[in-house]
Amino acid sequence: MNSATATPAASRVDVLVREVGPRDGLQSIKPTMPTGAKNRWIAALAASGLRTIEAGSFVSPKLLPQMADAADTVKQARTIPGLTVAALAPNLRGAQDAAAAGAHELVIPVSASNEHSLANVRMTTEQAVAEVKKICAWRDTLPAGSRPVVGIAISTSFGCSLSGPVSEDRVVALAVQLAAGGADTVHLADTVGYANPVQVKRLTARVKRELGDKLGAGHFHNTRGQGLANAVAALEAGVTTLDSSLGGLGGCPYAPGATGNIVTEDLVFLLESMGLRTGIDLGKLVAARALVAEALPGEPLYGHFADAGLPKGFTYAGDRTRPGGIT
Ligand code: ZN
Repeated sequence: MNSATATPAASRVDVLVREVGPRDGLQSIKPTMPTGAKNRWIAALAASGLRTIEAGSFVSPKLLPQMADAADTVKQARTIPGLTVAALAPNLRGAQDAAAAGAHELVIPVSASNEHSLANVRMTTEQAVAEVKKICAWRDTLPAGSRPVVGIAISTSFGCSLSGPVSEDRVVALAVQLAAGGADTVHLADTVGYANPVQVKRLTARVKRELGDKLGAGHFHNTRGQGLANAVAALEAGVTTLDSSLGGLGGCPYAPGATGNIVTEDLVFLLESMGLRTGIDLGKLVAARALVAEALPGEPLYGHFADAGLPKGFTYAGDRTRPGGIT
């Protein structure tokens, strides 16, 4: 890991929870959150103990006006001590803009489904892979201490709403090709919420066998209510990083009732209950929902933990034993 990404960790965690709400959540809803509210929200998320936050997406503001201020939110997030700031970029230009704004980590989407790739980034899968090679070549020209981590998210790894089932062999081959082409890490994304736990465990284990430590996050959407089950299956297959969104913010602007990413609060509770340390304070996390509700009136927030609260006698995993807080 290079010095730009070697942010100090207060204590060891067993599972890294990557908050993607300010990117994946906000880009999937119609209203635009004002920049000041995004910055307050990101600060509150970091204060709860989240160590990596996707702060924006460097795409054309014509396509995603919700992300037009991505450079501002990334710059602001970079001022938070200890936080790893990630940003999505679909191409070299976006990657360069994200790095210029200070992103430690880039997330480049490459869709396993050619149809989804064309619809999402207007490139075939093959063209998107070629773009990743360009991005990695550019990264290698940067001074060693200022190279962003290049992570590739294989979208529609578990199925595609345009073309249906996606071949697991194709996903594995793509992951191997991307890692060989210079990607630092490869994330497996269930972009449309089609995955089931058996499938997740099988495919993730295959990619883990091929990529080892280059296997990145499991990225699950709760579209059909399978998200947390899929997250556990990914853990069993060797994943140690999981993406989630506060309040499950997101969905699809054209599909009323469609939920977004798995809910960060519920995921953190699940992990801590299972004895896996996250370093995240559930009370502070739930409090951060109020900022989202205030900035996006009427936008649904999901999840069960925020309503139900901590069970009697709950203790955090590991050395954090004070109910409702982190010692
Ligand atoms: Zn997503």
